[in-house]
This record gives sequence, C-alpha cells and structure tokens, in this order.
Amino acid sequence: MPGIYIHIPFCRQACHYCNFHFSVSQKRRPEFVQALKREIALQKDFLRTNNHERIILDTLYFGGGTPSLLETSELDEIFSELFRFFELAPDAEVTLEANPDDLASEKLSALRNTPVNRLSIGIQSFHEADLKYMNRSHTSEQAVKVLNNARKAGFENITADLIYGTPGMNDAQWKENIMKLILHDIPHISAYSLTVEKKTALEVFIRKGKAAPVDEEQSARQFEILCEIISQHGYEHYEISNFGKPGFFSRHNLSYWSGVPYLGLGPSAHSYRDGLRRWNIANTCNYIENLQNGQLPPFDQEQLDKDQQYNEYVMTALRTMWGVDKELVKSRFGDDYFEKMMQAARKFLKNGKMLETSSHLIISAEGKFLADGIAAELFV
Ligand code: SF4
Repeated sequence: MPGIYIHIPFCRQACHYCNFHFSVSQKRRPEFVQALKREIALQKDFLRTNNHERIILDTLYFGGGTPSLLETSELDEIFSELFRFFELAPDAEVTLEANPDDLASEKLSALRNTPVNRLSIGIQSFHEADLKYMNRSHTSEQAVKVLNNARKAGFENITADLIYGTPGMNDAQWKENIMKLILHDIPHISAYSLTVEKKTALEVFIRKGKAAPVDEEQSARQFEILCEIISQHGYEHYEISNFGKPGFFSRHNLSYWSGVPYLGLGPSAHSYRDGLRRWNIANTCNYIENLQNGQLPPFDQEQLDKDQQYNEYVMTALRTMWGVDKELVKSRFGDDYFEKMMQAARKFLKNGKMLETSSHLIISAEGKFLADGIAAELFV
C-alpha cells in the first residue's frame, strides 16, 4: 500500500549542519497550510491505480523542517483535507517529526487526539556542548523531559535521532547518549554520523577555523560502539542508520527502500511511482504563490532507466540487514546485471566486508560503516 510524505518547511532555528529546505520565519505558515491543502486536492490522483477505489495509505509521514511547530488545529485541517481523498489503513503508521522544545505535556496530549501514532524526536545529543556546536534549539534537559512526557501521554511507538562524530564528544559521552535512550525504553533509534554538507554554516565555520573539524576516525569508532551496545539490548540493526526492537521498524522507510509508491507534498518533497521520481521546487514562497493561483508548484522529474533502478536497488538493499536478493536481481534486471554484480562483489567477499548466503549478498559487520562505498562499486 502506498504512503504520503508531507514536508513542513519551518524551523525554530537553523542547525549549523542542516541542508534541508526550511525557513526560520513562521510568517507564511498560515498561507502554507492553505497551500498544502490545495496541493492535496490537486495531487489526489498521483497514487491512483484505478478509478473506483479510494486510496488506502499504509504510512503517512510529516517531516521537515520541524512539523511539531504546527498547531494541532493546523494538523487537524491538514488531516481533514487528506481524508477527503485518502483513507488510512486500520493499522497505518502516522509519524510526526518533532523537536524536544515543541513537545510540552499539553502539546503531547493534544497530539494523542490526532491520528499521529508515532513520534520521531530529534534529540541528537544529551550534552549541552554538542547541542551548542550543532546550534540545536533545545536543551539537554528538554531532551530528557520529552522522553518521559511522550510515554506519559501514551505514545509507545517512538523513535529518537542521535548524531555521533561531533567534535568534542568523547566515547564515554556517546555511550551515555545511547544508554539514555535504551534506559528510557525507546524502541527505535536512528543514528547518523555528523557530515559536513556543502553550503551549510558548519562548512563555512570549519573552513574559517571557527568550528572544530569532523574526525572520520572518531565517527567510525563511535559507529562501532553504537553497534556493539545496541545489539546487547534487543535492537535489530535493520538498516545502516536504523535500529529497532521487533515490531518497531519504520514502515515508512521500509516502503521507500522496497520501491512502494509514495506521494510527496510540500516544497522540496519527493514522490515516486513506477520508476518515476518527481520533486517539488525547494522554495516555500514560490510553492505558496503557485497554489494560491490554483496551480501546482514547479517540479522536476526523471524516469529512472534500468541502470538507475538497478543501482538504486543495490544501494538501498545493501544498507539493510536483508541485503541484495540474488534471484530478484536476475529476474528483474537480467543475467548480465547479476554477473557484473557478483564479479564486483568478489573482492569484498574475499576481504570479509560482504557475506554471501544461498539467496543474498549482505554487508558484514566489518563492512557496515563503508556500506555506501561498497554499494557504489557494485553499480553499473
Ligand atoms: S530542526 Fe531539523 S530541519 Fe530544522 S534546521 Fe535543524 S536539522 Fe534542519
């Protein structure tokens, strides 16, 4: 069943490492909500496969930006418009990305009265110095508080984001960050290595010597620490950056990785259907103004050819614990793709970075930190 992603392009303050599309001014938020409602109506058929049935969604995901900045009344308006055209499956996963400083107890209780049933909380770190380095808008105290309050409000399906490799964060502090989530019984953790993206404030600060540079070795070591601790506490390392207890894997992300169609709404949001990838203009003013005039905002699109579809499959599958399905590569792409893949995999099978079973190729524990590089060598 398909899914919908909704991009909310507003943030309280700009994290120094971030290259997503967002604005720290909230001025146009009311107009944005109205524009989004128009886009929902205009895009109602993107996922349609026949003329008769209502489209049933398996997953709905509010990302950003910071969707928790929305008032629950704004969320209610968005849900009402969505439900004019779409239905949620009875057990649908409805995720809202949230920052700790937006989730006071009253907000959490109000969210419980919406269809949101999964919170993705951007903790990143429990240490003030890291939060300052990253320019996060919340404090360490708020981060701890939100974990307790979310549970009290009745949310069980919670995922928290952490960032490792921050200069100044030693291994002991990193372990503390991981253990805090484990001790709060958070059933899903996403952990990302701090990367210095082009044109971010962090890149400029490092270049000008105003911020400490990121150390690859520290990142690799802290990734290993993470894998080790997490495996002792009942989490499955089901994707390179994602760790979940059974029953709590992200269904929305699993759909992305397995090629299920999805509709992306909001500025910069991506959609996918039958090899067609489409993405809205990353400009909130332009997005709003086009929709105010009754037309869809500008978008780009590409039809993935066979090579691109193969590369994408290998990249996403190798990042998961299930790996690349050898039979699927043969049947979907043909014997020549399969042969080339096996040939490229040989050196990684030899040096222990990959493992081969009767049905799959998998990245080994040793190769996990290098998964994207290994996948790239298997590309055609
Ligand atoms: S809150 Fe998220 S989207 Fe907003 S600036 Fe920070 S990392 Fe980027």
